[in-house]
Amino acid sequence: MSDLRFIHVALPVPMRRIFDYLPHPQRQVVVGGRVRVPFGRRMMVGVVVGESDHSDWPVEQLKAVDEVLDQQPIWPQSLLDLLKWAGRYYQHPIGEVLTHALPKKMRQGEQPNSADIEVWQLTDAGVAQDAQSTKRAPKQWQLLELLKAGAQERATLSAQGVTGATIQAVAKKQWIESAPLSALNESLSQPSNQPPATREQSIAITALCSRLQGFSVSLLEGITGSGKTRVYLDVMSQVIEQGKQVLVLVPEIGLTPQTLSRFRHHLGVRIGLVHSGLNDSERLAAWQAARTGELPVLLGTRSAIFTPMANLGLIVVDEEHDGSYKQQDGFRYQARDLAVMRARNEQVLLLLGSATPSFESLANVEAGRYQHLTLSERAAGGQLPKIAAIDMRQQVMTGPLSAPIVKAMEQHLQANNQVLVFLNRRGFAPVLLCHECGWFAECHRCNRPFTWHKGFRRLVCHHCQVERPVPHQCDSCGSTQLVPVGQGTEQLEEALQEQFPDYPVVRIDRDSTRRKDAFENLVADIQRGHYRILVGTQMLAKGHDFVDVTLVVIADVDGALFSSDFRAGERMCQLLTQVSGRAGRAGQQAQVLLQTHYPDHPWVQQLQTEGYQQVASALLAERKQAQLPPYAAIAIIRAEANDETKVAEFLAAAELVLNTAAQRHEVIVMPPGPCAMVRKAGRYRWQLVLIAPQKAPIQKLLTESLGEIESSKLAQVVRWHVDVDPHDTV
Ligand code: ADP
Ligand code: ZN
Ligand code: ZN
Repeated sequence: MSDLRFIHVALPVPMRRIFDYLPHPQRQVVVGGRVRVPFGRRMMVGVVVGESDHSDWPVEQLKAVDEVLDQQPIWPQSLLDLLKWAGRYYQHPIGEVLTHALPKKMRQGEQPNSADIEVWQLTDAGVAQDAQSTKRAPKQWQLLELLKAGAQERATLSAQGVTGATIQAVAKKQWIESAPLSALNESLSQPSNQPPATREQSIAITALCSRLQGFSVSLLEGITGSGKTRVYLDVMSQVIEQGKQVLVLVPEIGLTPQTLSRFRHHLGVRIGLVHSGLNDSERLAAWQAARTGELPVLLGTRSAIFTPMANLGLIVVDEEHDGSYKQQDGFRYQARDLAVMRARNEQVLLLLGSATPSFESLANVEAGRYQHLTLSERAAGGQLPKIAAIDMRQQVMTGPLSAPIVKAMEQHLQANNQVLVFLNRRGFAPVLLCHECGWFAECHRCNRPFTWHKGFRRLVCHHCQVERPVPHQCDSCGSTQLVPVGQGTEQLEEALQEQFPDYPVVRIDRDSTRRKDAFENLVADIQRGHYRILVGTQMLAKGHDFVDVTLVVIADVDGALFSSDFRAGERMCQLLTQVSGRAGRAGQQAQVLLQTHYPDHPWVQQLQTEGYQQVASALLAERKQAQLPPYAAIAIIRAEANDETKVAEFLAAAELVLNTAAQRHEVIVMPPGPCAMVRKAGRYRWQLVLIAPQKAPIQKLLTESLGEIESSKLAQVVRWHVDVDPHDTV
């Protein structure tokens, strides 16, 4: 036996393999630490995943490690295990998985440090300012006000809508100055006094606190406004008191200034944030502070699940049903599911919360794997709104909304309340059609109609984002009679403003909130009562309290009744329940009206009479019957290319490999076929679906087959990926 050692390194390249290197001439490498190695003609940073006396490659072809970057493993063993497991489970190359889990600066080979945190505090001159001195700069005044309670991190300020430009401007006036990290702790107030927990909250808190030792999962199902956050916070305080850390995941849009300030006030400790507004240094700093254990609480979106924590005591996943926990490209993981694995590896409690739990979690409750806690009443009083369907078939339509809805709106507006009108379609109209010949403006890359955006004066394809000017004439017959068909939020806003000239209308969707902070500003203006009618997409459905809203109008539910995705019903019921939950927060009796042509549809009926829990159990029974998730497991291989025959051939070959694999038992390999949207951005898209009663057989089959599938010539020609537990299946 030779005494040669080989270093096995995971590199951020899209290949399902590990690369071997010779040791560094002087320095010892550590497994779990980073190294810089030559790769092709470049240098790359990778992670050492093992060492041994064996390599499949001829020694003379191997190069040596160029630089040893870490003396210690960067992740605790439990987290490294989770990452390796995730790579295998989601069938994603381990090198990309490990790199994905690191802040950019770590990927680039920099050393971790948490000193890079930018902290700001008021100067004496700043303290002396009043609203008058910043009359023409409300943003500057907002910053001064935020800092009155003490020093804050830039990351925290930016999560509250303060831009770098504002900070610079105020710093230039010498009203604020940068402060040492220690100023942060001094500025934290004592946890503030809270109203007593309700009976249901107390029961949940006691039940959860009794489970703080070891691994378990609890699902807190509480209607909107039932005070789930209060439950999280009380359990979190206990964990923090024991000197342990808490990781809190929120959906992409859920990291609001209100959430942050509630956490700060209730807990009185430093809260680390991971959000899209952070720069690379701040990300690294938050990561390192969590990793060393200095940071008691880390609050972040999906990718925060990979943050190492020295002393983890609890994981909370808020709005656990939210689709944003599933990464939709590259490494397609589901952060909530990884949270379960992580809690198990690190032997801690996982608390999942939602008003509309995912069917996966409900099935786990049903199977006795998760503890189920419920909050069935609103904490601050008030009833859940009553839902009623308005049968569109019998209505004469004079505008976008039917007469009974217009009448109801008038009543609520006259009573000085706000009305929320929900329509999940942006733009002015989804189709622009020639009145004379029927031609319509279509994206030639997707074969789908363009959406007319009147405000931008553009046609935009909502599938590939391509834009073109609005035509004056029909491309086919030259007629100038182009008419919009169908309606989007832009049209609804315009029509409502005409119909209700005395009540200011505001629109909230991705278009109206493009500019940085626009969303936060609009929400603040709504909360101040500047607007009476709120029109918007699902951006309005999530997380925000609009206490004066007493009527919610759902302009169109019919779309979801026709979707071929088996999850469409689940999603629509979640969305409707969440939107409805925006109403009546301040205790007034509120109302929800749904416009539909199918008032007799089973779950439209059930939502009115029974509510989410009952609709969910009915839909779950259907899933069980049909052997669909969560009672079965699914994985999809998707492929796309400009040439449709290549896509079909590639998947046919993949099908053959899968069908001849030893592990094929128990797995149904469906014949490949075109996706519901067969063409997108010029490429043809097909998919192959795998179904099995359990997850394990699919995982084994894919693990056994992907090497061969990947090595085919067509695999280099088409773009393809594997999606395990896919969010979308059509
Ligand atoms: P959820 O997250 O379940 O929708 P929240 O946690 O946002 O609900 O609470 C809804 C409202 O009820 C908030 O305004 C909150 O301050 C209030 N609230 C929560 N718990 C209590 C309580 N025990 N007593 C009084 N008000 C409460
Ligand atoms: Zn397109
Ligand atoms: Zn025409």
